[in-house]
Amino acid sequence: MQTTLVQRLIIAFCLLATIGVPLASVLPSSASSTNGYRWAVKQTPFTVMAGENLTGEWSGIMQTAVNAWDKNDTVTIKRVAGSTGAQTCSPTTGRIEICNWNYGTQEGWLGLTRLYFDDRGNRIEAATLQLNDSFFNQRNGQYNDYDARLHTMCHEMGHTIGLDHVDTTSCMNDSQYAVFNYVKPISSDFRDLQRIYKQKDSYTTVDGKQKKEKKDKKDRKKNGKKNNKKRQDSRDRASQELRESGADVEGIGTRETVTVERMADGKTVVTYITWAE
Ligand SMILES: [Zn+2]
Repeated sequence: MQTTLVQRLIIAFCLLATIGVPLASVLPSSASSTNGYRWAVKQTPFTVMAGENLTGEWSGIMQTAVNAWDKNDTVTIKRVAGSTGAQTCSPTTGRIEICNWNYGTQEGWLGLTRLYFDDRGNRIEAATLQLNDSFFNQRNGQYNDYDARLHTMCHEMGHTIGLDHVDTTSCMNDSQYAVFNYVKPISSDFRDLQRIYKQKDSYTTVDGKQKKEKKDKKDRKKNGKKNNKKRQDSRDRASQELRESGADVEGIGTRETVTVERMADGKTVVTYITWAE
């Protein structure tokens, strides 16, 4: 599928309109650098739960990507049961939701990550990751390929934990070549994560009890349970306190489209769109 930049921006507008919120800005791709997006965490390493709303081959691919990312010392992505329908792939506060569906070829996107920010505007409080089977399952299609699937899962997963694009052999490389060749994160990604989360927050936007040591996280099986009411209360308090501190976020990318929208309630949603060719 051939699309011009203008067409892609129009498509981006349409995609954003589907969320049903007013648009503040849609930015085309620009030079790559650190984008400053991250979850609020009081400590590292921390765990972020990723809900699996997947079918078929995707389940194993998610596990492969999770295992690859797990080699970093900063964030553990913990696979849990999904809480949304794959078609809508709605966000869940404190979590990543990962979905696959036949989202259609008309809009032209292969993978889509949305980062939902808290009231301060620079801390992720939910993320969704969508994989478009309309391309991945296309008969004789170029993306009907294991490496393309794994790259996209790995790439979008990296966005959900705060990483931007790089020009290395990492899956965070956003070139078309990378889609078929770079299927896992590399040590420089892990260093980036360390740097991104070096500064600690006084509150947290990740769901679930955060354990002190990474090893403990892996050992303990049933720590996903959480007092939702309590978390919501503390979140509300944090939101209230932070309402007036208006830190801005900017859209930065290279060969993808990155959009930033500010919602009526002051919240921000950032969308990374990986286009199919
Ligand atoms: Zn990307």
